Amino acid sequence: MSVFDDPGKGMENTENPEFDSADLREIKLIDCHAHMELYRKSDVEKEIRRAKNCVRAVFDSITEYRKAHVHKSWELLKNHFGFIFPTLGYHPNEAKRGNWEKVERVEKFLLDHAKEIVAVGEIGLDFYHATADRERENQLRIFRHFLSIASELDLPVVVHAREAEEIAIREVERAGVEAYFHAFAEDELAKRAQDAGYIGISTGIAFIPKVKRVAEKVSLERMFVETDSPFMSPFRGVTNNPCNVSVAVRELERLKSTEADEIVSAVLKNVRDFFGVEL
Ligand SMILES: [Zn+2]
Repeated sequence: MSVFDDPGKGMENTENPEFDSADLREIKLIDCHAHMELYRKSDVEKEIRRAKNCVRAVFDSITEYRKAHVHKSWELLKNHFGFIFPTLGYHPNEAKRGNWEKVERVEKFLLDHAKEIVAVGEIGLDFYHATADRERENQLRIFRHFLSIASELDLPVVVHAREAEEIAIREVERAGVEAYFHAFAEDELAKRAQDAGYIGISTGIAFIPKVKRVAEKVSLERMFVETDSPFMSPFRGVTNNPCNVSVAVRELERLKSTEADEIVSAVLKNVRDFFGVEL
């Protein structure tokens, strides 16, 4: 989740946001990372309905962040489980506050639902939004805490890393857990991240040159495609939706000279290996 990022600073082309998802629909796309609970409350059902028309599953990173409490998000989405596959985590932009009472509450909720989630996340480090030493220290301690919970539960983790990618990779390696570095945008570290886990290529690929370079470097065997909805819209002024995962697939097709169905089957295999979900 890129909480503070403007949704919709994407491409100029706003003619038809779902310009080419029709033929990709047959292939059955998957959005490997989104936050359906973070739309305006009155829009959640509508956005899920829309997503159901063009993707076969959404992997939703339910994560504690300010007033977006995990237990509330869970209630909002649980009727759609089976289409939505939930994870539970603690966002670094919350973790920087170092509120351990909150950490304990989220941890308890996570442990109570450990059998229903497919991963722990998103968790991680965001030094872009945490500039004070104290905040970074809080993030690191809470990140480690959830890494150890994941390790005990034998669950993989969904990681948010921004301006702290190298440390996040090191922590994941140290914890010995399977990791999915979502919306990864540090091309210099793409190879290292790929050795440590899977890389999420977001719809940001449409307008962020660094994401294009990451995509060029990462192999399909270690790749997920995601929208990070409602954030990261590839279309300026339009809120993102899992349907737009087709934009990432189309761009990958071009960059990697690979057919869409090959990309989608690689993602399917990765989803099975990483989340343990057969689709
Ligand atoms: Zn996210």
